Amino acid sequence: MSELIFLEPHFKEVLWGGNKMREAYGYDIPGDDTGEAWVVSTHPAGPSVVKEGPYKGMKLDALYEEHRELFGNLQDEKFPLLIKIIDAKDDLSIQVHPDDAYASEHENGALGKTECWYILDAEPGADIVVGHHAKTRDEMAEMIDEGRWDEFLNVMPIKKGDFFYIPAGTLHAIRKGTLILETQQNSDVTYRVYDYGRLQNGKPRELHLKQSKDVITVPQQPEKTEGPVQAHEGYTEQELVENRLFTVEKYIIDGEAEIENPHPFLIVDVIGGEGDVDGHPIKAGDHFIVPSGYEKILIRGDLEIITSHI
Ligand code: ZN
Repeated sequence: MSELIFLEPHFKEVLWGGNKMREAYGYDIPGDDTGEAWVVSTHPAGPSVVKEGPYKGMKLDALYEEHRELFGNLQDEKFPLLIKIIDAKDDLSIQVHPDDAYASEHENGALGKTECWYILDAEPGADIVVGHHAKTRDEMAEMIDEGRWDEFLNVMPIKKGDFFYIPAGTLHAIRKGTLILETQQNSDVTYRVYDYGRLQNGKPRELHLKQSKDVITVPQQPEKTEGPVQAHEGYTEQELVENRLFTVEKYIIDGEAEIENPHPFLIVDVIGGEGDVDGHPIKAGDHFIVPSGYEKILIRGDLEIITSHI
């Protein structure tokens, strides 16, 4: 039988990054401006690397290419998901992603990007931008052109444990004091709408207003996607979102939980506590893939985990 695939994250230093991942997860981050850990990534700009076992040292993109059987012989040319932890010490720009159809037509056949966020930690007073208040496409374009951001942006307070679904076309921004787990389509196409007038190396960063106005959904209020919390002996289970691109679930384990994997693969992100999976020790900050054919895992301990699959 195949083994669980434990991964080493790829870190990104960015202007708005922080150092929270060092303490929270014991990561050997490269600096105090580490904004992103690409924890399950086949993206050429930052693939995660297999930590141990028969494929130790292999990049996940190579593993996906050469051992497609571990992923249920998926036909997708690119691995479909990308999981990141994001530590925002400063505000990220206000942005929007296209859907598959728009990206394919306007971005050389690229995929669109639908994503979702689980709030791992938030400083007191932290907030987030999801959606906007314009009622028509004309009003949306006007509010952008006239810079009426206070009126336009839907800003919401956040706390640890909140979940946000960001389908393609949703105006969104992560803001300062936020640590999140992001599950997304494996794509990079981002249109920047507003950057708070900031300068980078003396110049404002490029905005993509035409594309943004094309793809922003109107009207747009945040969509609640979480299902009820189901209590079982030793654990609780909650579906956070299910759609045609991915299903994301949360488990809180206080004892043991058996989780089945009838999928091409199952991604497991350990976001709190410690314990073991099939006898292998795990703790907050570990991320692994349950390969195709590995039918179930037994997780024991005091743990919070997020799972995702297509
Ligand atoms: Zn985004």
